[in-house]
Amino acid sequence: MGHPRVDAIAQEAREAVAAAQSSAELEQVRVRFLGRQGVLTQLLRSLGTLAPEERPRVGAAANAAKRELEALLDARLPRALEAERRASRARERLDLTLPGRRPPRGALHPLTRVHDEIVAIFAGLGFSVVEGPEVETDYFNFEALNIPRDHPARDMQDTFYLSESTLLRTHTSPVQIRAMRTRKPPVRIIVPGKVFRRDVADMSHSPMFHQVEGLAVDRAITMGDLKGTLELFARQMFGPASRIRFRPSFFPFTEPSAEVDVLCFVCDGAGCRLCKQGGWLEILGSGMVHPRVLKNVGYDPEQVTGWAFGMGIERIAMLKYGIDDLRLFFDNDLRFLRQFA
Ligand SMILES: [Zn+2]
Repeated sequence: MGHPRVDAIAQEAREAVAAAQSSAELEQVRVRFLGRQGVLTQLLRSLGTLAPEERPRVGAAANAAKRELEALLDARLPRALEAERRASRARERLDLTLPGRRPPRGALHPLTRVHDEIVAIFAGLGFSVVEGPEVETDYFNFEALNIPRDHPARDMQDTFYLSESTLLRTHTSPVQIRAMRTRKPPVRIIVPGKVFRRDVADMSHSPMFHQVEGLAVDRAITMGDLKGTLELFARQMFGPASRIRFRPSFFPFTEPSAEVDVLCFVCDGAGCRLCKQGGWLEILGSGMVHPRVLKNVGYDPEQVTGWAFGMGIERIAMLKYGIDDLRLFFDNDLRFLRQFA
């Protein structure tokens, strides 16, 4: 025997169970009808306020509705929980057929690439790599290289002095001296490394940059050997059609001395923005080792001769890659560096 008011509540509860999509929604239905403030709970609690003849009918109907709803929830809830566990396991399962995620890969810095390329070219010609200290004495950086006391290169304006007699090397040339003092000719070395000058950083200056020094000493070494070596270097670095020219210059540690230019590889000498319309690009300084430098390391200038050159790695990289601002090498901006990956 039902009761119209209780039947309406029971029907509402059945529909709510049928509409529930998850264990959480089923729990909401349970609370709504059977919880402490639930509709059926309240109804059973308020039986005492009804007319005495109504109490048994309403009470029986409400209890029946309560048992029915409990049975419905007991049937639905375990299945809902099991379905949710299955779905969660499926979400977490490893799909081995998915393509892997590639971790971002770094690349060599453009200066490292050019450094490695220069070293590889000279290694192929039988030169070995030698390195030396970045903190040098005045003797190795200047005096042994025939740079006199009053030479402008020794000015405090140009050199980072650490004390009266120690400094940050201003070129890689002191390693020539160190190498020659410890070995007998023939000598064929290249010396890559950092050098330091008291310059304010701008498009073409940096207080720290990189050089590669080359040195060959043997019996009967000539300027012709220097030219042949540098021609070969230019062809490998800038392309097989590269040409070089020597311009007379002056360095205290070489005699004669020459600046070396490479024919502009953008315009083939016709003149363009890169070569500032001159058709040639300056790439390094060079010359025959000064007899006084040979004497300073204990060699006999009557018996052996030699040549040396020094080039800036940044300069070569700027020419090779068409970079017009030196600071880009040191800013570590990934948008710049990724172009060399
Ligand atoms: Zn040009």
